[in-house]
Amino acid sequence: MRPAFGGPRLLLRRLREVMAEQISAQERLDKIVVMIAANMVAEVCSVYVLRVDGTLELYATQGLNREAVHLTVMRAGEGLVGLVAQTAESLNLSDAQEHPSFSFKPETGEEIFHSFLGVPILRGGNTLGVLVVQNRAHRKYEEDEVEALQTTSMVLAEMIASGELSALALPGQEPAARRPLHLPGEGLADGVGLGHVVLHEPRIQVTKLIADDPNREMARLETAIESLRAEIDDMLDSEDVARGGEHKDILEAYRMFAHDRGFVRRLKEAIGTGITAEAAVERVQSDNRARMMRQTDPYLRERMHDLDDLANRLMRQLTGEKPTAREDLPENAIVVARHMGPAALLDYDRSRLRGLVLEEGGATSHVAIVARSLGIPTVGHAENVTSLADPGDAIIIDGATGEVHLRPTGDVESAYAEKVRFRARRQAQYAAIRDMPAITRDGVEIKLNLNAGLMVDLPFISETGAAGIGLFRTELQFMVANSLPRTAEQLDLYRKVLDAADGRPVTFRTLDIGGDKVLPYMDVVQEENPALGWRAIRLGLDRPGLLRSQVRAMLRAGAGREVRIMFPMIAAAEEFDQAKAIVERELTHLRRHEHRMPERVQVGAMVEVPALLFQLDELLPRVDFLSVGSNDLVQFMFAVDRGNNRVANRFDVMSPPILRALRLLARKGQEYGKLVTLCGELASRPLEAMVLAGLGYRSLSLSPAAVGPVKSMILELDLRRLAAVLDPLIEQPKEGGPSIRERLRHFAEAEGVTL
Ligand code: PEP
Ligand code: MG
Repeated sequence: MRPAFGGPRLLLRRLREVMAEQISAQERLDKIVVMIAANMVAEVCSVYVLRVDGTLELYATQGLNREAVHLTVMRAGEGLVGLVAQTAESLNLSDAQEHPSFSFKPETGEEIFHSFLGVPILRGGNTLGVLVVQNRAHRKYEEDEVEALQTTSMVLAEMIASGELSALALPGQEPAARRPLHLPGEGLADGVGLGHVVLHEPRIQVTKLIADDPNREMARLETAIESLRAEIDDMLDSEDVARGGEHKDILEAYRMFAHDRGFVRRLKEAIGTGITAEAAVERVQSDNRARMMRQTDPYLRERMHDLDDLANRLMRQLTGEKPTAREDLPENAIVVARHMGPAALLDYDRSRLRGLVLEEGGATSHVAIVARSLGIPTVGHAENVTSLADPGDAIIIDGATGEVHLRPTGDVESAYAEKVRFRARRQAQYAAIRDMPAITRDGVEIKLNLNAGLMVDLPFISETGAAGIGLFRTELQFMVANSLPRTAEQLDLYRKVLDAADGRPVTFRTLDIGGDKVLPYMDVVQEENPALGWRAIRLGLDRPGLLRSQVRAMLRAGAGREVRIMFPMIAAAEEFDQAKAIVERELTHLRRHEHRMPERVQVGAMVEVPALLFQLDELLPRVDFLSVGSNDLVQFMFAVDRGNNRVANRFDVMSPPILRALRLLARKGQEYGKLVTLCGELASRPLEAMVLAGLGYRSLSLSPAAVGPVKSMILELDLRRLAAVLDPLIEQPKEGGPSIRERLRHFAEAEGVTL
């Protein structure tokens, strides 16, 4: 027969009193286990805490041998307790000794207890410890008892997460909840950032766990769910969503979850155990996360984010809290987000922002491009960081290596402080060579230009001593705006860019939108393969109104000066003719209206589509210059999506097929006497830039932070000696794979070239 079970509400009320008492952490834990055991009519109640070393330590017990407290330690995955921690799932057994994972700890005296119920202590889906009750008799705990124990474990989760228990631990054995974490990610924007976590979408802290009136909580939940459903319906009906697109699919999924009976039932059951509606949302979502984090299927993991979003919305319905404003950013803020658009990043106060960490987003995503142009160290693909980081946590990020150190130890902190000092010294060295031209030891000048796109980039021209702007990405102005920038606004920006360049050449690229570069205020056209779709110059030629007004703004901004215009994604020589005809037409228009004309107009094409490699003899006579967009060219040559991390790093660019194509472009340019610049991310990396110089490139366009490192590399380089090793490597790659990167690194080392 089932012994009388006190039910969770009474227990929760008593726990609340204990949590408020002015006693030591150990005394509090000791009281808690006694109360739980009594309430659950269990002979044993024990708390195991996950430690930084990955083991589980017995922190308190009622019923087992007290001497074992702080002595009994289980390895990760060891025994039933280890199993609960590892799977993050409850384990309910009437005969624990029979279970294959049972492991005997003689010091505890637990061999006489047959039944076992263990629940994970979870927070944000992460395991912090395990709570166990045991009985002598062979009994199977009822569903409501399991529920009750899970609810109780939330109180323990708060206690562990508060850091209160750390005082009870030896160094290196502290509770893992606040442990230092080293998360590997992908470096998106160079630089080291030291500071404190600010969550882009702050979690709503549940301050009140225990309900005063469960019926009221049930009613609050029902109202909140109704409002949530209405909110989703409204969003689905709203104009821009109704047109279709990915956003719509996500909202449809939200609607499905919000109506899912299982989801609502679990929330109600949690309230039934005596907690508030907010605590119920947190608990159900924490369980969901724990389960989904252990899934390997990326689709299911993606759904976890959707469920997180939904839970946050429900929480906001309950608390009436609005997403926070960006104004009151603390000093040294490192913003941590799941994902972010470029406009949101610009909302933050630049003077306080020290870094950005994203769970999603690759190197060529737009927020990464903007972060780079703002010089904000950024790391992407930092898995699960938004649930592991708490606001205010100390954090260090390294945008070069992609490392994130959350709650770093003193050692890590001082190592990075040293790194920052070292970088500052390097910066001073770069500043010293700022006004020197980039000339190799054997006397060849390589022009170093900047990639830019926003007003914030302009001071970099003088700060870096760049030769000019080799790629001005005009779409950035469009991407960060809330509505289509008018011609006057474009004209104003282009004028300011030319003013800031102060006579140095500036190459404007016409709008490169479509594909993954969507403008929030423009119709989204659904395409199977957006990277190969209606984008860039294709869109420009099919809807010439926008392209014309843009070209006109460029030409007017360049009154009395040189204007350089280039078109993205040209795939055929004839396409270039059509685009150039628009420039001619606008020039005629300006002349007719007696505007002041540019002194000189140069029109060029970007080489991003491999088909152009086989039309160079047709194309080169028509253009004034070429600019190689290696980001796109490489993605199309290898057929690897530049934004898809699973394939983006599959092939090394430093391998013969790409290098032969790049060499061909440089040689053909020389043959026709036309300037060929390379403006993809390749040029921003010293080893790659060294190779480009070796292939014959005399003009590169790079991110502002790369100018110093690339220039100092060039000053140390002897091009003749490089050419002697490079050509044979490209022609006959030796065994050891197609990449010639290692051999180039050896060359640089032997030559004393710093990469
Ligand atoms: C490129 O493709 O290399 C390039 C410079 O253009 P974007 O990165 O803007 O597509
Ligand atoms: Mg491109």
